[in-house]
Amino acid sequence: MMGKQTSLRNKKQVGALWFALLLIACGTVPRSTAATEEIHLSSTEVVDGSLLVVTLKSSDPDAVKKYRASLGETNAKFFPSPELGPGMYQALIGVPFNTAQGSSKVVVKVMEGDSERKENLSFDIIDGNYPYETLSVNPRKVKPKPKDMVRIQKENKALGIIYRTYTEKRYWTGPFVKPIASDMTSFYGTKRIFNGELQSFHSGVDLKAAVGTPIYSAAPGVVVMRRNLFFTGNTVIIDHGYGVYTLYAHMSEFKIKQGATVKANQLIGLAGKTGRATGPHLHWAAVINHVKVNPVDLTRVLK
Ligand SMILES: [Zn+2]
Repeated sequence: MMGKQTSLRNKKQVGALWFALLLIACGTVPRSTAATEEIHLSSTEVVDGSLLVVTLKSSDPDAVKKYRASLGETNAKFFPSPELGPGMYQALIGVPFNTAQGSSKVVVKVMEGDSERKENLSFDIIDGNYPYETLSVNPRKVKPKPKDMVRIQKENKALGIIYRTYTEKRYWTGPFVKPIASDMTSFYGTKRIFNGELQSFHSGVDLKAAVGTPIYSAAPGVVVMRRNLFFTGNTVIIDHGYGVYTLYAHMSEFKIKQGATVKANQLIGLAGKTGRATGPHLHWAAVINHVKVNPVDLTRVLK
């Protein structure tokens, strides 16, 4: 009796072994030591200026160190996203404004010992059909005087230092909120003709607001700039961590201190028309890993 049972078990074990070898040979199961992974993009078709979220599911406890996402020159680190489930990570990538239409790819590099593996995530960049907009402003704000240029260069340097700072802490969870619940009077990506000359593209959105309208933070973070700038007037910049910054411009008054930690929906200032503005409104912008993306994407692409 005992002998029969043993031989039956052996037969089962041998069968199971063959079956496992067959699966490994077919490549349908990972080696027991290898980590499992799933990677996907938030969208396979976007307009330039969009935010792309790379979602990673990995059983590797060192995923944060081993995985990197990139699009052209832009690199993004993955951060744990426990709110999406165990072993979940995300990385944020901005598709720069005016990137050529056509097929593109986010490359996820995975360090495996001394070697590097690459996973390509394909997506298409389609025409944003961004309109033109003609504006009349104070000529000095379009053709700055030499002393203004000195000021502008100094301010750009300060902005550069902020955006190059990479805070490896995620202050937010889930989607951002609009800083003012009002209509948009100018969209992201609008090509702007100031006083008859094409100057730039609109790197944020304009939200309708009378002077004195309260402006709220779009997500938790730290106030890393509270300063009057030549173009954007009284400006607040919030660092949300992992290369994500939001900017609020043309304020009439600040209601937050430099260095303050803010929650989502916290009063940070009052709307105005300081800087290069045709009238009172809130200019709201977002920078993600050095790329100026449509800030509205933070409210609809992030989950
Ligand atoms: Zn604007």
